[in-house]
Amino acid sequence: MTDLLNRVQLNTPEHKLVKEGIISDYLNHIMKDNADNSEGQTAQYISALRDADPEPFATALCTLDGRIYSAALGGTFNDAGVAADQVEFTIQSISKPFVYALALQEHGIDELVKVVGMEPSGEAFNELSLEGDTNRPVNPMINAGAITVNQLINGSESTVEDRVAKIHSFMNQLAGRELTLDKKTAESEMESSDRNLALAHMLRSYHIIQDQAEDAVNSYVQQCSILVTVRDLAVMGATLASGGVQPLTGRRVMDQSVARQVQSVMASAGMYNAAGRWMASVGIPAKSGVAGGVLGTLPGQLGLSSFSPKLDEHGNSVRGVRVFQRLSNDMGLHLMAPDPRGRASVRSLTEDSHTDETIVRLQGDIDFIGGERLYRTLSEHELKHKKLVFDMTRVDGVNPVGCRMLNNGIEQLREEGYEVRIEDPEGWLKLKDAYLAGDGV
Ligand code: GLU
Repeated sequence: MTDLLNRVQLNTPEHKLVKEGIISDYLNHIMKDNADNSEGQTAQYISALRDADPEPFATALCTLDGRIYSAALGGTFNDAGVAADQVEFTIQSISKPFVYALALQEHGIDELVKVVGMEPSGEAFNELSLEGDTNRPVNPMINAGAITVNQLINGSESTVEDRVAKIHSFMNQLAGRELTLDKKTAESEMESSDRNLALAHMLRSYHIIQDQAEDAVNSYVQQCSILVTVRDLAVMGATLASGGVQPLTGRRVMDQSVARQVQSVMASAGMYNAAGRWMASVGIPAKSGVAGGVLGTLPGQLGLSSFSPKLDEHGNSVRGVRVFQRLSNDMGLHLMAPDPRGRASVRSLTEDSHTDETIVRLQGDIDFIGGERLYRTLSEHELKHKKLVFDMTRVDGVNPVGCRMLNNGIEQLREEGYEVRIEDPEGWLKLKDAYLAGDGV
């Protein structure tokens, strides 16, 4: 907690970093600033969504160690007495990155790229578009791509029921709880699915999918109808951000390479035809859904989410987009504007004439930049002693590249005749074996 608070830069002067509730208070504050915004309308083409209560407004964050912060606007409660951050809504298109993850996990990237690309389309989510030469949908975030990916789950011979059950169970693992599938919303979407049926027929005509169009859309629409809260979405986002480890259960639910692929596609295509503007102004890989949810992932840091049902002309939640813009600005979350890192991996270098040792004290996170700084310091410094001590007591973390650089460098120094002693109480350098074993630690 203290660590997160230290890292959170709140530019809002009236906010002081003083107590536990500060992050939820802050979330409340930015929601209040957008509460009067009544622009947009609920998704009109699905009756269950058109008639939904447009008022609930909630935001949540989840850290990679599973701490969830959420806020409901002014503690608003719906008719059933449920606060907005506990209100369930259908996941809709936010299911797309996760079903893409499941398909990647089941079939691997080489099989996936045969049927779906990874370029932004710049088009609306339900556009009838396929890639000119291959007839593949251009990416898995538009409906054509998502219907195709849905069809890969559980193999092409699967029944709709088994396929949906597999997706549902994966979503449960991601959220860390049993989620409900809202049959009513699925049925109401099926009643107005001409567009998605047209997409499925087109995909079938090019042999991209095999199932009957009706079954393919039915299966896809059910995946969209799983109910979540903002808190679930934040946890699911944190699972992607951590590289595939669910923060509440500690279980690895997807490979690191899968989480990387999914977030990359979200970054370029997650916000439909507003994806480019979104990346420039918010800078967080994200996915929105027409029920009003927005999911964001900050790789290596956080999962974020918001819920407010009124949508803009791109199908993105109006208040959700504003909240993400504020979060990104106030908390310095834009991916392309990170704080400079690894500058101070070398805390000090001292020549100890009593012990005839050169002592190098390291600190912080050792990654490529941290490793580079260490070796530059060593090469620029004329070492006075043949005994070298690397003191890693104040190191907070070592990533695979940093670990490799440290181990290789130490080996090289030993070959050059240096007697190297390492003080590494946390055992960071031993991570080498885990990294080599591909544990993706
Ligand atoms: N089920 C919705 C559809 O296919 C999802 C669209 C969205 O959330 O953007 O139209």
